[in-house]
Amino acid sequence: MATDFDAVVVGAGVVGLAIARALAFSGRDVVVLEALDAIGSVTSSRNSEVIHAGIYYPAGSLKGRLCVRGKQLLYDYLEQHQVPHARCGKWLVATNDEETQQLEAVVRRAAANGCTELEWLSAAQAMSLEPELQCVRALSSPTTGIVDSHRYMLSLQGDIESRGGAVALKSPLLKVIPHRDGFSLHVGGDAPMEVSAKYVINAAGLEAQGVAKRIEGLGAEHIPRRYLCKGNYFTLLGAAPFERLIYPVPGSASLGCHYTLDLGGQGRFGPDVEWVDEVDYAVEPSRAADFYEQIRRYWPGLKDGALSASYSGVRPKLQAPGAAAEDFRIDGSAVHGVPGLVNLFGIESPGLTSSLAIAEHVAQMIESA
Ligand SMILES: Cc1cc2nc3c(=O)[nH]c(=O)nc-3n(C[C@H](O)[C@H](O)[C@H](O)COP(=O)(O)OP(=O)(O)OC[C@H]3O[C@@H](n4cnc5c(N)ncnc54)[C@H](O)[C@@H]3O)c2cc1C
Repeated sequence: MATDFDAVVVGAGVVGLAIARALAFSGRDVVVLEALDAIGSVTSSRNSEVIHAGIYYPAGSLKGRLCVRGKQLLYDYLEQHQVPHARCGKWLVATNDEETQQLEAVVRRAAANGCTELEWLSAAQAMSLEPELQCVRALSSPTTGIVDSHRYMLSLQGDIESRGGAVALKSPLLKVIPHRDGFSLHVGGDAPMEVSAKYVINAAGLEAQGVAKRIEGLGAEHIPRRYLCKGNYFTLLGAAPFERLIYPVPGSASLGCHYTLDLGGQGRFGPDVEWVDEVDYAVEPSRAADFYEQIRRYWPGLKDGALSASYSGVRPKLQAPGAAAEDFRIDGSAVHGVPGLVNLFGIESPGLTSSLAIAEHVAQMIESA
């Protein structure tokens, strides 16, 4: 069988692009297949654009390791490639003693994961620096930041193309047939084609399970169930109340309804937690009531009418509502027995932060296969 490409990456979100870049830089002939007519237009453009420090995830987990490593790689990359970003820092705030205890557990978990930067602030310290804030204690993460995720993805695409790789838009992957020395791939779209590759990396985000089902011979037991957890955002009308990101104590399905801002200084709150059966990005304005209630716990000055329904994203979860958080799954042949195939499942937050570290991890799996 003639091989058209060393590697085909399915999905031009931030993770697929970062993986294709890593493979192109290691000398592989690579193409990214993207079903839609633009890169990064699904979950990679429907998130908080926060560069996380690795505070929340269990030590030894892929989320923990890849977030800490990914943050470092990402800041270096953004600086070298002049991608707009800001190390604005973030505070986690406790509004009562029970929440302070929860934050103490967060500090222990972060330290176990190698994130030792957190510093306590008393209520007086915090509220003198952020006069609109109400809290009993705050925890500062100085290296948390924000990034222009679209400029970052355009830069990744440029890197891929500069190394001879390609991003094929409107090219949905329909079927994968494994052979002895690689794969045949059926691609749909305006100009359907069949290509071959030695390696296939399934980075299709919310559709990763759907793509996996189209790989002949992949056992159903290797395709985890997908749960959809929508996160809605509301834009803040008016002046920014805080100079840094403000997060409440984290919940089990999300990091809590937090205050972030984009690089233009526009403030917003979210994401909340809405378990859904289908992907639908409409934001129901009546959800604002819950936002007002949650935000006023740490910002009592929030005025009625200040929130406007904005956008939403959907987290590709691997756990059912109420169950303990699952880790990222990056499954190679040691897991599923198909040589040359890597499936990425459950790449929710901190997938943007971790993207370059995920890419490094997948490239190592390919090189050591
Ligand atoms: C509400 C929310 C907030 C978040 N906030 C943050 C944050 O602040 N910081 C952070 O680090 N992370 C955050 N994340 C996580 C981050 O956004 C994701 O981990 C990341 O964007 C996942 O990228 P991806 O490339 O895996 O998926 P996607 O961006 O979804 O890309 C997958 C691509 O695959 C394509 N595709 C699907 N099926 C096919 C097919 N058959 N053929 C070809 N292409 C196909 C899709 O069109 C899509 O372009 C957040 C996520 C959500 C939902």
